[in-house]
Amino acid sequence: MQNKQLNISYQVYQSMAELPAEWSSLLQKAVEATKRSYAPFSDFKVGAAILLDNGEVVCGSNQENAAYPSGLCAERTACFYAGSTWPGARMLAIAVAACHNGELTATPTYPCGACRQALVQYESEGGVPMKVIVGSAGRVEVFESVRDLLPFVFDNLDVAQEK
Ligand SMILES: [Zn+2]
Repeated sequence: MQNKQLNISYQVYQSMAELPAEWSSLLQKAVEATKRSYAPFSDFKVGAAILLDNGEVVCGSNQENAAYPSGLCAERTACFYAGSTWPGARMLAIAVAACHNGELTATPTYPCGACRQALVQYESEGGVPMKVIVGSAGRVEVFESVRDLLPFVFDNLDVAQEK
Protein backbone atom coordinates (compact mmCIF):
# COMPACT_ATOMS: atom_id res chain seq x y z
CA MET A 1 0.00 0.00 0.00
CA GLN A 2 1.16 3.48 -0.80
CA ASN A 3 -0.11 6.83 0.32
CA LYS A 4 -0.12 9.38 -2.46
CA GLN A 5 -0.79 13.07 -2.49
CA LEU A 6 -1.92 15.56 -5.05
CA ASN A 7 -0.82 19.16 -4.93
CA ILE A 8 -2.63 21.83 -6.86
CA SER A 9 -1.20 25.30 -7.05
CA TYR A 10 -3.24 28.28 -8.17
CA GLN A 11 -3.04 32.01 -8.03
CA VAL A 12 -5.26 34.25 -5.94
CA TYR A 13 -5.72 37.89 -6.85
CA GLN A 14 -7.42 40.31 -4.48
CA SER A 15 -9.45 41.91 -7.27
CA MET A 16 -10.06 41.89 -11.01
CA ALA A 17 -7.93 45.03 -11.27
CA GLU A 18 -4.90 43.05 -10.05
CA LEU A 19 -5.21 40.51 -12.89
CA PRO A 20 -3.01 40.79 -15.99
CA ALA A 21 -4.94 42.79 -18.61
CA GLU A 22 -5.54 39.83 -20.94
CA TRP A 23 -7.30 37.82 -18.21
CA SER A 24 -9.05 40.82 -16.76
CA SER A 25 -10.60 41.51 -20.15
CA LEU A 26 -11.73 37.88 -20.51
CA LEU A 27 -13.23 37.89 -17.03
CA GLN A 28 -15.05 41.13 -17.80
CA LYS A 29 -16.66 39.40 -20.78
CA ALA A 30 -17.80 36.61 -18.45
CA VAL A 31 -19.32 39.22 -16.11
CA GLU A 32 -21.12 40.81 -19.07
CA ALA A 33 -22.40 37.37 -20.11
CA THR A 34 -24.17 36.98 -16.74
CA LYS A 35 -26.57 39.66 -18.00
CA ARG A 36 -27.66 37.32 -20.80
CA SER A 37 -28.36 34.45 -18.41
CA TYR A 38 -31.86 32.98 -18.36
CA ALA A 39 -32.30 32.00 -14.71
CA PRO A 40 -35.95 32.62 -13.77
CA PHE A 41 -35.88 29.86 -11.14
CA SER A 42 -32.62 30.42 -9.28
CA ASP A 43 -31.73 34.03 -10.14
CA PHE A 44 -28.18 32.68 -10.06
CA LYS A 45 -26.78 34.13 -13.25
CA VAL A 46 -23.55 32.63 -14.49
CA GLY A 47 -21.44 33.87 -17.38
CA ALA A 48 -18.49 32.21 -19.09
CA ALA A 49 -16.04 33.48 -21.71
CA ILE A 50 -13.64 31.23 -23.59
CA LEU A 51 -10.57 32.51 -25.43
CA LEU A 52 -9.74 30.49 -28.55
CA ASP A 53 -6.38 30.26 -30.26
CA ASN A 54 -7.86 31.98 -33.32
CA GLY A 55 -8.41 35.09 -31.18
CA GLU A 56 -12.17 34.68 -30.88
CA VAL A 57 -13.87 34.95 -27.50
CA VAL A 58 -16.99 32.85 -27.12
CA CYS A 59 -19.41 33.65 -24.32
CA GLY A 60 -22.15 31.61 -22.73
CA SER A 61 -24.60 31.98 -19.88
CA ASN A 62 -26.69 29.52 -17.94
CA GLN A 63 -30.06 28.71 -19.46
CA GLU A 64 -32.65 27.27 -17.09
CA ASN A 65 -35.74 25.34 -17.99
CA ALA A 66 -38.94 24.38 -16.15
CA ALA A 67 -37.85 20.78 -16.75
CA TYR A 68 -34.70 21.31 -14.70
CA PRO A 69 -32.29 18.82 -16.31
CA SER A 70 -33.05 20.37 -19.69
CA GLY A 71 -31.20 23.57 -18.77
CA LEU A 72 -27.48 24.05 -19.25
CA CYS A 73 -24.62 25.73 -17.40
CA ALA A 74 -22.79 28.75 -18.78
CA GLU A 75 -19.51 26.86 -19.21
CA ARG A 76 -20.99 24.11 -21.36
CA THR A 77 -23.13 26.59 -23.31
CA ALA A 78 -19.88 28.39 -24.17
CA CYS A 79 -17.65 25.39 -24.94
CA PHE A 80 -20.30 23.61 -27.02
CA TYR A 81 -20.93 26.81 -28.95
CA ALA A 82 -17.18 27.25 -29.47
CA GLY A 83 -16.76 23.62 -30.51
CA SER A 84 -19.65 23.77 -32.95
CA THR A 85 -18.69 27.14 -34.43
CA TRP A 86 -14.88 26.75 -34.62
CA PRO A 87 -14.23 23.00 -34.53
CA GLY A 88 -10.58 22.25 -33.85
CA ALA A 89 -9.79 25.67 -32.38
CA ARG A 90 -7.89 25.30 -29.13
CA MET A 91 -9.51 26.70 -26.01
CA LEU A 92 -6.77 28.61 -24.20
CA ALA A 93 -8.69 29.94 -21.22
CA ILE A 94 -12.14 30.12 -19.70
CA ALA A 95 -13.32 32.83 -17.33
CA VAL A 96 -16.38 32.34 -15.11
CA ALA A 97 -18.37 34.78 -12.99
CA ALA A 98 -21.77 34.70 -11.33
CA CYS A 99 -24.34 37.21 -10.08
CA HIS A 100 -27.11 36.71 -7.54
CA ASN A 101 -29.69 39.36 -6.67
CA GLY A 102 -28.00 41.61 -9.21
CA GLU A 103 -24.63 41.51 -7.43
CA LEU A 104 -21.43 39.74 -8.35
CA THR A 105 -20.98 36.87 -5.89
CA ALA A 106 -18.61 37.48 -2.99
CA THR A 107 -16.68 34.26 -3.59
CA PRO A 108 -15.66 32.52 -6.82
CA THR A 109 -18.11 30.22 -8.59
CA TYR A 110 -16.30 27.14 -9.88
CA PRO A 111 -17.46 25.07 -12.85
CA CYS A 112 -19.62 22.13 -11.75
CA GLY A 113 -18.35 18.57 -12.17
CA ALA A 114 -20.17 17.99 -15.44
CA CYS A 115 -18.72 21.17 -16.93
CA ARG A 116 -15.21 20.21 -15.77
CA GLN A 117 -15.62 16.91 -17.59
CA ALA A 118 -16.79 18.65 -20.78
CA LEU A 119 -14.02 21.26 -20.62
CA VAL A 120 -11.23 18.78 -19.91
CA GLN A 121 -12.06 16.87 -23.06
CA TYR A 122 -11.58 20.00 -25.17
CA GLU A 123 -8.37 20.65 -23.25
CA SER A 124 -7.08 17.15 -24.04
CA GLU A 125 -8.07 17.48 -27.70
CA GLY A 126 -6.34 20.84 -27.95
CA GLY A 127 -3.14 19.52 -26.38
CA VAL A 128 -2.56 22.70 -24.40
CA PRO A 129 -3.67 23.57 -20.88
CA MET A 130 -6.87 25.60 -20.62
CA LYS A 131 -6.50 28.23 -17.94
CA VAL A 132 -9.51 28.60 -15.62
CA ILE A 133 -10.18 32.07 -14.23
CA VAL A 134 -12.92 32.25 -11.61
CA GLY A 135 -13.91 35.72 -10.56
CA SER A 136 -15.95 37.25 -7.79
CA ALA A 137 -16.36 40.54 -5.98
CA GLY A 138 -13.97 39.32 -3.30
CA ARG A 139 -11.17 37.65 -5.19
CA VAL A 140 -10.10 36.02 -8.45
CA GLU A 141 -8.49 32.61 -8.69
CA VAL A 142 -6.51 31.34 -11.66
CA PHE A 143 -5.85 27.66 -12.32
CA GLU A 144 -3.39 26.66 -15.03
CA SER A 145 -5.45 23.74 -16.31
CA VAL A 146 -8.95 22.27 -16.12
CA ARG A 147 -7.21 19.11 -14.87
CA ASP A 148 -6.29 20.98 -11.72
CA LEU A 149 -10.01 21.06 -10.96
CA LEU A 150 -10.65 17.47 -12.06
CA PRO A 151 -7.48 15.43 -11.52
CA PHE A 152 -9.04 11.98 -11.88
CA VAL A 153 -10.85 12.68 -15.10
CA PHE A 154 -12.89 10.17 -17.04
CA ASP A 155 -10.87 10.30 -20.23
CA ASN A 156 -11.45 7.77 -22.95
CA LEU A 157 -9.57 9.73 -25.60
CA ASP A 158 -6.60 7.37 -25.41
CA VAL A 159 -8.90 4.44 -26.20
CA ALA A 160 -10.48 6.40 -29.05
CA GLN A 161 -7.06 7.20 -30.48
CA GLU A 162 -5.97 3.54 -30.47
CA LYS A 163 -8.35 2.82 -33.32
ZN1 LIG B 1 -21.78 23.20 -14.99
